Amino acid sequence: MPRRAATSPCGAVGNIARVATTASTTKLVYDFAEGSREMRDLLGGKGANVAEMTRLLGADLVPAGFTITTEACVAYMRADRIPPAGLDDQVSAALAALETRAGKRLGDADDPLLVSVRSGARESMPGMMDTVLNLGLNDASVEGLGRITGNPRFAWDSYRRFVQMFANVVRGLPGERLEDEIAAVKADRGVALDTELDTEALVELTARFRALFAEHTGEPFPQEPREQLTQAINAVFDSWMGDRAVHYRRINRIPDDWGTAVNVQQMVFGNKGETSGSGVAFTRAEITGAPEPSGDFLGTAQGEDVVSGVRNTQDIDDLARIMPEVHAHLLEILRTLEGHSRDMQDVEFTIEDGRLFMLQTRAAKRPAQAAVRFAVDAVGEGLLTPGEALATIDAEKLDALLHPTFDPTADYTVLTKGVNASPGAAKGAVVFTAADAVAADADGRDVVLVRPFTEADDVAGFHAARGILTSEGGKASHAALVARGMGRPCVCGASDLEIDLRDREVRIDGEVVLREGDLVVIDGTSGAVTTEDVQLVEPQMGEDFEQVLRWADELRTLGIRTNADTPEDAAKARAFGAEGIGLCRTEHMFMAADRVPKMRTMILADTLEERVASLAELQPLQQADFEGIVEAMAGLTITLRLRDPPLHEFLPDREQVHAQLDEARTRGDDTAVVALERTLDRVHALAETNPMLGTRGCRLGLLYPEIYEMQVRAICRAASAVRERSGAPPHLEIMIPLVAYEGELEVMEQLVEHVGEEEGLARGRDFTVGTMIELPRACLQADRIAMHADFFSCGTSDLTQTAIGFSRDDIEGKILAKYIDRKVLDRSPFETLDVPGVGQLVRMGAWLGRKTRGDLKIGVCGAHGGDPDSIAFFHTSGFDYVSCSPYRVPVARVAAAQAAVSSS
Ligand code: ADP
Ligand code: MG
Ligand code: MG
Repeated sequence: MPRRAATSPCGAVGNIARVATTASTTKLVYDFAEGSREMRDLLGGKGANVAEMTRLLGADLVPAGFTITTEACVAYMRADRIPPAGLDDQVSAALAALETRAGKRLGDADDPLLVSVRSGARESMPGMMDTVLNLGLNDASVEGLGRITGNPRFAWDSYRRFVQMFANVVRGLPGERLEDEIAAVKADRGVALDTELDTEALVELTARFRALFAEHTGEPFPQEPREQLTQAINAVFDSWMGDRAVHYRRINRIPDDWGTAVNVQQMVFGNKGETSGSGVAFTRAEITGAPEPSGDFLGTAQGEDVVSGVRNTQDIDDLARIMPEVHAHLLEILRTLEGHSRDMQDVEFTIEDGRLFMLQTRAAKRPAQAAVRFAVDAVGEGLLTPGEALATIDAEKLDALLHPTFDPTADYTVLTKGVNASPGAAKGAVVFTAADAVAADADGRDVVLVRPFTEADDVAGFHAARGILTSEGGKASHAALVARGMGRPCVCGASDLEIDLRDREVRIDGEVVLREGDLVVIDGTSGAVTTEDVQLVEPQMGEDFEQVLRWADELRTLGIRTNADTPEDAAKARAFGAEGIGLCRTEHMFMAADRVPKMRTMILADTLEERVASLAELQPLQQADFEGIVEAMAGLTITLRLRDPPLHEFLPDREQVHAQLDEARTRGDDTAVVALERTLDRVHALAETNPMLGTRGCRLGLLYPEIYEMQVRAICRAASAVRERSGAPPHLEIMIPLVAYEGELEVMEQLVEHVGEEEGLARGRDFTVGTMIELPRACLQADRIAMHADFFSCGTSDLTQTAIGFSRDDIEGKILAKYIDRKVLDRSPFETLDVPGVGQLVRMGAWLGRKTRGDLKIGVCGAHGGDPDSIAFFHTSGFDYVSCSPYRVPVARVAAAQAAVSSS
């Protein structure tokens, strides 16, 4: 969706004055005790959840602190990195309150209060500033901490951690240089683990860090605690505009003007010794969703050690042995947190001298399998209603359950990562062309099609390959869209790969990593690419998933159909729960190798007689196709679209004919020369400057009515044949594409009715007639068009192209990435419906159409029919159904239910 220019952080200069004057009176700092989970936008996810947890569990379990708002961050950015007026005072006041409560002063030389400084945006976001722990330590307070705890080693361990983190995170000193010092001191002392370093070694390490700091920044390490705090807070703000964060926001469509909050929290210490430690836990198993808590724990450690992997962690169950009471207490808290939030949680905790503290909780990120399991269990346990349980599922992710995946326990080296464009894993030998993929498939070999990018010509290769790997393009690239439509795993935009089609090899930094025929394995769910033979596991629509889908079907009001052109696709979609076919593209049936020549003869025909003769040959073939599909969908409605694409798509390549002609001339083969000259003439005559806006859709039907007549006849005969065989009449909807004028549809409905009558079938009884709504004019004139239509089906892909004036293939290759980069757009309008633009036309079309015919059936058959956000829009727009590719059907069922639940 387009950005809101007026609120863009780097935009409008006029906003600065407003922020600067209001800031002095605005509350920019909130004590944890003042916040709640509803205040997420202002306090960030972490701040809001810590505040909520403080309310729920009490101050004994959650270390005290305060949150600096996201608004303060936005003001800081707008004023070009000057903190808003009043912030400094408000921080000092909040700190004073914290000091009073703790009974200690920040960095006090005898008994210091120490704090952590943590960033936290509205949504948890990698790329933001890492946390700084133990802030407030300096040369004096480290001694005080050692004395008061009687544990100088702990004090110095805390100080060296602080100097290390401050230098790295706040002042940008490269982490490796600091790690090198640790390695040097360890080697010097002959120890392997950081826990084995004694006080004297830690004192030396701290001194080494500080020397590096001075060298890197040209300043001594700041000793004044309040100054340390100011620098750390500003560094969190700065990190919001850092490259990594900006990049992440772009990919995940998070607006820049959210800003990040900063949390300042009293430290608790997991690095005190044997009865201390740090860990993370999930209220349920994080991979499977099984109702047993899971997690990792590390003794004598501060939080960052658990994730950084400096030492191997222990399982949460081990805690039951080491500190049984703490373990029991933790499990009880996990239950409380989950019950309160009514969603699966992931938490951080620290144990200080046997006492448990909770530092964070949030809705657990979970794979589809766990999401489904949680939803089912939560209903079973009485925690959630089915509607609420469905709302906890990310519908988009469900796709992954329908494809093979990497064995979650597999261990492998990642060659490179790209965009996770179409879920599922695939393995096979590298091929570089669609033709090679087709040949390999015919031999029964598994291959992965590897190309810099793909085009329409490569589509046959998608069918034949197990998966697709490209080095260019993102989630909206041709490769991604086609792969998702077909349910083929795809990793695209793996930009480290130099794919050399000429030498048939792939390089990274000039070094060959893959040659034709080498094994490659891709994970379209994560974007990973590897050359190792990773174990894959087959998908299963498990009982839990079936249950979720049953609930979805009870709750949704939108019908779910599928786009299918073959009986196989139709059958697959039906197994996934499709309630009919929303779009059967009849022209696809002519793509088969044995039919293209017949189609060509028909198109190249000079006279009507010739054309009718070749159409007569095609008609039985088409009838057989229709019978196949009608039988696969027995009992359900099928929308058959008459031929849409421009004729030239079936013509031979001009250059190729030229070459053949030259060759025939050299050979002196006169008959061939005459035939080829004739072909060339027709190719020239049919060439169009802009075929997408040329002779296609119903225009073709008006120019060459015999083509549509043949198709309608084939449909009618297929219907009669199936009815005779099975005794059940099929429900057929005959759809006219690309209508802009009422008059076009009027001519076409007459044609259809006329052929129907000749075949003994009647409109209304045996079939209905309707149209695609895919041109802006059709939306604006939908009331008139509806006088001739029994149904509308929105072709949102073409409507997007014609409404915006974007040619999809051209835009996605060259323009879209730049547009997203420059924030003109934050998502491809071909991936999710452009609601303010195209969506308005869609609604206008639906509204005007129903004004004429209250019972007008309205659906959508563009790629948007499988996109959860777009589905929500179609639901609220009063559509009867959406139609999507077979693999998207379960996703659409859940998304439609979520739309119904959230709008009821
Ligand atoms: P992230 O968002 O990367 O998880 P966090 O701010 O949550 O960053 O913190 C990083 C680690 O530091 C976590 O393990 C967290 O529990 C720990 N931590 C943060 N604040 C404190 C604190 N006040 N006392 C002890 N540990 C803390
Ligand atoms: Mg955290
Ligand atoms: Mg179309």
